Formats: sequence, structure tokens, C-alpha cells
Amino acid sequence: MIQRAGGHRPGARRTRAALAMTVVLLAVVGLAAPASGARSDYYLAAGSGTNVFSLRLAGSMNSTWRGFLRDGVSAWNGTYSSTGTVISITSGSTNKSVRLGSLPSGMIGRYQYGGSRSDRTFVVTVDAEKIADAPNRISSIGSWARFTTMHELGHALSLKDNPDTSSSTVMDYKPMSWTGVYSAPRAYDRSAVASIY
Ligand SMILES: [Zn+2]
Repeated sequence: MIQRAGGHRPGARRTRAALAMTVVLLAVVGLAAPASGARSDYYLAAGSGTNVFSLRLAGSMNSTWRGFLRDGVSAWNGTYSSTGTVISITSGSTNKSVRLGSLPSGMIGRYQYGGSRSDRTFVVTVDAEKIADAPNRISSIGSWARFTTMHELGHALSLKDNPDTSSSTVMDYKPMSWTGVYSAPRAYDRSAVASIY
């Protein structure tokens, strides 16, 4: 299931074409989100009301994958100077988590959410097996794992898929044959998060 924040998106046709031949990078699943505010070009109400929060790396995973997921978190923390984002990884109790798991066909990452914006709960799932086994994957497993985690956490930071921009962004769908996998949020992404929080 793919749920978008709504609104007309000029890029939709290109997006569907890309999806048809590659993967659905991500789905946002959860309760219906209210209409977004003034910045509907990128705003996802399903995100967290704050960009300072803790999450758990949940379930079992080996140290290599734990490192990949941590890299995805760190990539957002690297935007602190411009966005103020601080995502801590805790072993304690929290209603926000990132885990590995199997996802439906064509999907390598998913952001599931609940609660309200002021008390957001979410589970990000990254499909390690599908990333590792993608026949048309050119960039490394680690690059894709980091990018996928970063993209899903972009939703937690109130960014929607395929924003209405021609700027490079980690929130676009990308084919697994893509060679330029981003290692960090782009200027557009940083600017968007900075304007929300
Ligand atoms: Zn997405």
C-alpha cells in the first residue's frame, strides 16, 4: 500500500514509469494524514512533530547491518548545523524503531506510523534480503541500506515522497540500477527539514 500526502504532482508520470521497471523504494502506511500546510510541495503530516527524538534498532541483526542502519541515522544527524536534527539511538524504551524485515514485492523500505504528530510512533522496516539480492543493483549493499534508512527517516522528519522539485532529493524513488546513491540528505532536503522544525 502506498499512501501519499495528496496534491497534484507533476512528477507522477515519471515516477510511475520508474516504478514499473524497478522497485518501489518505500511505502508510507498508517492512519490517514491530514492535509498538509503551506509547504505541500514536500510536507508530510505523518512525520514527527519534533526532529529531536530517540529510536531503537529493533530485532536481531548482525553488526554489519546495524552499522548500515546507524549510517542512515548518522546521515541525518550530519545535517544538525542547518536543521537541528538529533536522532539518538537508544536501547531503552521508545515508540520509534528501525528494523529489518520482509516487505511486499517491489518494496525495500517502509515507514509505518501511528499516534499523532505531537506523539508520533513509527516503525521503519528495511528489507535487507531484497537489497542484497537485487539483480540490477550496482551500488553497494551498504550504500542502498544507508540510503533506504535515510529515505524512510525522511518521512519521520515530515518529508513526502517525490516532492515537487527538480532538485536532487533523497525523497525520490530511484531504480536499483542507480549508480549515484546519495550518502547524505541533499540541500533541498536540509532546507525542507529546516523550514518545518
Ligand atoms: Zn518514501
